Amino acid sequence: MDRSEPPPPKPAKGEDFGYRLFPERRSEAKPQRSFLATSLFTYNHKCQVMLKIALDRSPYAQLLLDAMKQSGCTVSKDRHFACEECDRCVGGGFDSATSQIVLCQNNIHQQSHMNRVVTHELIHAFDHCRAHVDWFSNVKHLACSEIRAANLSGDCSLINEMTRFKFGLKQHHQVKKTVPCR
Ligand SMILES: [Zn+2]
Repeated sequence: MDRSEPPPPKPAKGEDFGYRLFPERRSEAKPQRSFLATSLFTYNHKCQVMLKIALDRSPYAQLLLDAMKQSGCTVSKDRHFACEECDRCVGGGFDSATSQIVLCQNNIHQQSHMNRVVTHELIHAFDHCRAHVDWFSNVKHLACSEIRAANLSGDCSLINEMTRFKFGLKQHHQVKKTVPCR
């Protein structure tokens, strides 16, 4: 993840890369300053705590972090992870434009779910860094990474993953790259 990143392709006019599912990813999005600030802080804090537990204790996450480090893709918790508010149907995603894993703080409420999302997205991050996946124009690259992530993270059944594909490849990964609906 420390390697230089190619500039993200610009969406064609009218093309949906899924950022609407991740409102805080949109540059025009304003920082949260609403009456919900207190509860959002609570969500964010809980997300950060669960993330730390996942990174410290999940054997799958540790395996991936070690593999990435050995591939020259060292991951930093502060740089490469972001707890954010998302659309209700999304658990997390990988934003290839920023090399960041997005964790949906309003939708992840259990440690086991956090562990699955972190593992799943780390596999995409690993593929992005090591294999230079072309998320935007090569469907085979996307499908291959998705199948690996689904199989290796144990986060979802094949049926669940197929549902995501039906849901929309672009919505699922181009923001990401991200992972709707768990
Ligand atoms: Zn995925």
